[in-house]
Amino acid sequence: MSKDQLPVPASPQKFGASEGEGIVRCDACPVLCRIRPGRAGACARYANRDGVLERTDPLLLMRRVVDRGEPVVPFAAQAWEGEALDPARTFLTGVGAGTTYPDYKPAPFLVSAEHAGVDTVTVVTEGIFSYCGVKVKIDTDRHLGPETAPVRAHGAHVGHVTTAEYGSQMLSIGGVRHLTGGSKQEGTATCSTLLELCAGKPVELMIEGGRSLVVEAGKAPIVDGESQVRMRVGCGSAAIGMFAKQWFGHVDEVIVLDDHITGVLTEHQSGRVLGMPPSGIRVRGRRSTPGRYFQVANAGSGWGGTDITDPLSAIRHIDAKLAWPGLRLLLTSTTGEDALYCLLDDRLHPVASDMPVAVRTVVDRIQENCEPARSTVLFMAGAGGSLRAGVTGNPVLLTRSVAVGETRVTMGGAPVYVWPGGGITVMVEVTRMPKGAFGYVPTPAIVAPIEFTLPRALYAELGGHTNEVRPIDDVIRTLEATARIEAWQGDNPWPFAGDAP
Ligand code: SF4
Repeated sequence: MSKDQLPVPASPQKFGASEGEGIVRCDACPVLCRIRPGRAGACARYANRDGVLERTDPLLLMRRVVDRGEPVVPFAAQAWEGEALDPARTFLTGVGAGTTYPDYKPAPFLVSAEHAGVDTVTVVTEGIFSYCGVKVKIDTDRHLGPETAPVRAHGAHVGHVTTAEYGSQMLSIGGVRHLTGGSKQEGTATCSTLLELCAGKPVELMIEGGRSLVVEAGKAPIVDGESQVRMRVGCGSAAIGMFAKQWFGHVDEVIVLDDHITGVLTEHQSGRVLGMPPSGIRVRGRRSTPGRYFQVANAGSGWGGTDITDPLSAIRHIDAKLAWPGLRLLLTSTTGEDALYCLLDDRLHPVASDMPVAVRTVVDRIQENCEPARSTVLFMAGAGGSLRAGVTGNPVLLTRSVAVGETRVTMGGAPVYVWPGGGITVMVEVTRMPKGAFGYVPTPAIVAPIEFTLPRALYAELGGHTNEVRPIDDVIRTLEATARIEAWQGDNPWPFAGDAP
């Protein structure tokens, strides 16, 4: 939104102070914008309408549209047709709620409702997160860049390559050092990249010494312009183990090329147990254990995430005492997308031949067992700071209550993983959150919704702002006309314990 436009609709908020001449000072974050009438503040999240500060995005109410025993309705699949909201089936999210800054204020909304006979309170706010970033999981066997290599976006260093996981490459983007510890341009670029990734937009990332990527939450990653289709079935050794029995009788040797472990069937325990005679074909690299080889080639975008484009180059030598003319050899990648069938000729040289149907069937089975490649974006943030004061006057009690699972944390209604140990460090998958859940302030920091749900009696024990709690019926009545109303995302657990859909 341009600073010159006033948005509709808006939620009434208790922020800001008049400074005369219709100017309002917004105190919803440390930037403290002075906003003239008809204009919006630096983050475009607040605007001055006729001397009154308004949150420019409507509050999001989510309605559970499923009866017990009835099928779950997919997220936002059922339009709201204007019927009255049922308080027992309505969840008030932090999307569009506003913040607690300066932090002694109670959260913008503290709502009560009875669920499964328990009087429950939900504390609803937007958090301003300086300590935050995303972890990106990219399902591909392609080598994206060296571990710890810088990741660049919008011309700035915004993150790094972190340790690979099984079948996936991992990036860490953002974090407090990139947001606030470098140049202003680095902070701004990092903030923009995080916002785009969290909003599910396609984002172009460059890895120094590696590839260029397009990452979009929930979609297939694009590496150097090539859309990734499959994640690998496993490493080369795992593929040998899984399919050895199906190859038995159809081939005399199988080499599964992989950047991590290249497997060789007859040397591998699988081949030995099946009683397969050694083929005498030895691959390059460092033997880890029988039939399992590290460092057969460099990492790259060739077969199995290596830089191999000619699979026969992986063979170091063929032992004439063990191999025989006519030996049937299969070379394949861990996705089955690259595969070559050879017969050894009289000089024991591999010669490419037509792949028999029985062998092709197993290669196809490898492909069938590869899951679709996807980019996953997890937002990670520390909620153990000052926003806790919007929940209780004794913040450590909230931290302890969250740690033991008495207080449930959600972000825009989506379930979060709370890291054990100190603080309230949470992770949430962004595709489970509502659209438009994220914003920013120019400090820079990311703004995201967060809700704490707990029994009312416990809320009082924690020193909660009990005088500020309003029945959800009242809140619905006040806000229904201006709120955004969407269906509950069917695969997110209903946050009220013991009141599952
Ligand atoms: S940046 Fe946004 S939240 Fe912060 S003071 Fe300005 S208008 Fe308010």
